[in-house]
Amino acid sequence: MSIRIHAKPFELLLKYPFSISGYSRKSTPLMLLELELDGLIGFGEASMVPYHGENPATASEFLSKVKLDWLQPPFNFDELRVYLDGLAPGNSNIKAAIDIALHDLQGKLDNKPCYTYFGSNPEHMPLTSITIGMDSPAVILQKVKDAEPAHILKVKLGGDEDKRLIETIRSVCDKPLFVDANQGWRDRTHALEMVHWLQEQGVLLIEQPLDKSNWDDNAWITEHSPIPILGDESIQRLADVDKAKGVYHGINIKLMKSAGMQEAFQMIKRARELDLKILIGCMSETSCATLAAAALAPLCDWADLDGPFLTKNNPFPNPKFKNGKWVLNNLPGLGVF
Ligand code: MG
Repeated sequence: MSIRIHAKPFELLLKYPFSISGYSRKSTPLMLLELELDGLIGFGEASMVPYHGENPATASEFLSKVKLDWLQPPFNFDELRVYLDGLAPGNSNIKAAIDIALHDLQGKLDNKPCYTYFGSNPEHMPLTSITIGMDSPAVILQKVKDAEPAHILKVKLGGDEDKRLIETIRSVCDKPLFVDANQGWRDRTHALEMVHWLQEQGVLLIEQPLDKSNWDDNAWITEHSPIPILGDESIQRLADVDKAKGVYHGINIKLMKSAGMQEAFQMIKRARELDLKILIGCMSETSCATLAAAALAPLCDWADLDGPFLTKNNPFPNPKFKNGKWVLNNLPGLGVF
């Protein structure tokens, strides 16, 4: 028997238009995957945020090249990664969908939850932040209210209204904050001034202060910052982790960047060897990719897995969320179904 691939495009609608430094959108195209073997189905998902270079057409084109008849359980995920990278160098989002679906399928074949494959302890699940995108003060206040289940908020900065936005949040809420500048700050002096001001506002960490390719100035900010500075756009796959050493205190790992769970796990191990901190993040995602990342989250320092909170037509049941954390269930596979 060989694995059958079913792929379905799906438009994931956002509760609020998603705005970051210099950019806004109302939905995100997904490719939902079902990989079928022996009557069991593994679910996977590619979230194709436009700035990442993948779209339904490129994902379908990549999928048309994928033949999984050589792959038999137990799946060798390293071999899979070499095979998929051999087909084309990019396409990390649809590669992630395949990797996630095969992990779900493997768990169902073994009757084991996916987190057990990584030595992940559900009791070590970190708090997950919920993101507050840039908006008018009235909408910001509504978003803070909507994010009530979270114990940490993540704020998107890098625009002209950064201080006003933080002050609006602080007028109603004293939860700790993560900040993501999304490469938006204009220079290192301005960025470091913001870092110090944000520390006084109860910010725990800051992602990507300056342009991803500006390694020197990002390193300078890290060297002078009293709080952790993390690389996100700078750090995509396993080969990038070593570049973060000396430039950032840590990295933001996302399954859509790392081409799936297996490589994200390798990135976590390498980051630990290099003494780098780890945030596990997401893009606009359903419960499927969220649970895949949550299976690895106990191995990380912080989590920003807010996809199901920010979208309004999640085709899967929402996972259980308690005390500001995702709860991993003991269903086989990802625990989606
Ligand atoms: Mg980020």
